[in-house]
Amino acid sequence: MERKRILLCLAHMSADGAEQRFVKEAFDSNWVVPLGPNVNGFEKDLEEFVNTPDGSTEQPATPTDQASAACTRPAKVVALSAGTAAVHLALLACGVGPGDEVLVQSFTFCASSHPITYLGATPVFVDSEPLTWNMDPDLLEHAIRDRIAVTGRKPKAIVPVALYGMPYDCDRILEIANRYDIPVVEDAAEGFGSRFRGRVLGTFGRFGVLSFNGNKMITTSGGGALICNAGEEDAQKIMWYATQAREAYPYYQHEAIGYNYRMSNICAGIGRGQMTIVNDHIAHHRHVQQLYEQLLAPIEGITVHSQPADGRFDSNYWLCTITIDPELRIVGQENAYRHVITGAVGGAAGVIHAVDCPTTDCQPNDNVEALRVALDKANIEARPLWKPMHRQPVYRQAPAYTNGVSESLFHRGLCLPAGPYVTDDDVRYIAATIAAAIVKR
Ligand SMILES: *Cc1c(COP(=O)(O)O)cnc(C)c1O
Repeated sequence: MERKRILLCLAHMSADGAEQRFVKEAFDSNWVVPLGPNVNGFEKDLEEFVNTPDGSTEQPATPTDQASAACTRPAKVVALSAGTAAVHLALLACGVGPGDEVLVQSFTFCASSHPITYLGATPVFVDSEPLTWNMDPDLLEHAIRDRIAVTGRKPKAIVPVALYGMPYDCDRILEIANRYDIPVVEDAAEGFGSRFRGRVLGTFGRFGVLSFNGNKMITTSGGGALICNAGEEDAQKIMWYATQAREAYPYYQHEAIGYNYRMSNICAGIGRGQMTIVNDHIAHHRHVQQLYEQLLAPIEGITVHSQPADGRFDSNYWLCTITIDPELRIVGQENAYRHVITGAVGGAAGVIHAVDCPTTDCQPNDNVEALRVALDKANIEARPLWKPMHRQPVYRQAPAYTNGVSESLFHRGLCLPAGPYVTDDDVRYIAATIAAAIVKR
């Protein structure tokens, strides 16, 4: 019998149908709109989740904490239609506008930086540090000083990203941000449930972004949320902008440009159901990661990316990521990039531009592409790491502070399947397929 295809990360509903019960309730009570009991209930669940420290490693709030001004008040959460919308509104609330600059991690998915351009501002890309693969604090400080020297103005916000769930160094990034008095928008879209010093990611900066897209830690089919850490006023402002910025008149009177970004009550019903199993999901991702670490350790030339072992980092391990030694030879490597592919990474949704050349000036090494193809032939979905934004043609003009780390990782790295549907047997099969794809010397 042919094996079922093992996908990178797939939405998984609770076994007892909690999602469908909440959705049915919405239909039964005719709350089929972008507000209602499920939206309120989902926000309450999220607030409880993000405000609960993990008892074992709980630490007092540090002065590096942008929430500390309001630390007697817990974080508020606003449910939105997408993680991208959450990034957009967080930047708007930080005052980002035309002509401004925002410092953003280069090694990320485009949704971290695209909203900067929606606001007419310029992204300034900051490279990664090798330990976490996330924003390099030294380079961040250098970039802040240099932007002030070059433009005479401070960047308006800093956007670090929890890549593949891995926490950024909150201690150093928040300390630097606070010293220069710049707000932090944490992009924790991939890091829902990851913790730093026992505290949930997204609760350190002024804002924290969550995503509930179909492939994330939990899903609402599509959706997102913004964690507001600096008090009720921010949460009110986000909610106002997310609902077309309305004024209290009997007719539509518009004094600011708003957005239609609120989460639907149907999607929120799915989210409430998902919150009943979120801890199981996170535990399973971590278990799969452990198994990869164990099974891939003996394979020379393959390195599993793991969190720093100093006790501060607690990744949700959304995806397992590996790097491949450039010297390692993979079967079929001589044919890598011979043919144009017809699909696109990220699935079949939407319209994908066809290309007539299979290569670009910045792409994964031939052995990485060969391993991706070998896994694909064995019915395993693997994917290159995010291509750094400072190497994307669309951002050719954007300033960038680089150290070679993210580009080198992009050349050498691959994401492997994780998530609730990936069984121990799948991981053993994936590890064996990787071992078999290596040309023995
Ligand atoms: C998924 C993702 C987002 C945006 O989320 P959507 O809900 O898909 O809009 C933002 N940043 C990162 C790093 C992501 O991976």
